[in-house]
Amino acid sequence: MAKLFGSETYARLSNQGMQIMGGYGYSLEYDMQRHFRDSRIITVSAGSSQMQRTVISRAMGLKVV
Ligand SMILES: Cc1cc2nc3c(=O)[nH]c(=O)nc-3n(C[C@H](O)[C@H](O)[C@H](O)COP(=O)(O)OP(=O)(O)OC[C@H]3O[C@@H](n4cnc5c(N)ncnc54)[C@H](O)[C@@H]3O)c2cc1C
Repeated sequence: MAKLFGSETYARLSNQGMQIMGGYGYSLEYDMQRHFRDSRIITVSAGSSQMQRTVISRAMGLKVV
């Protein structure tokens, strides 16, 4: 749950950061582009968000189709 919440929060906030910084956020001169890339891959690696939701649902005893 912590991984799912943390990674999705990081992705959402870095997406907002990109929007706030505009073109500068995309530039390699600023760390924003790194946060944007890092936050996206964290929702895929070490158990994607979809897989995390499946595991959590099973642990809660919910039926997973
Ligand atoms: C930078 C990086 C580092 C990594 N490090 C490691 C590591 O140290 N150790 C390790 O073991 N692996 C590592 N991986 C592999 C990582 O765990 C896999 O990329 C991840 O499990 C997704 O598998 P996949 O890339 O084959 O995508 P796929 O399995 O093809 O999935 C593609 C998409 O389909 C979704 N999907 C797949 N199956 C289901 C399902 N049953 N239900 C719902 N949605 C589904 C996924 O959520 C994903 O969004 C790393 C990957 C990256 C990119």
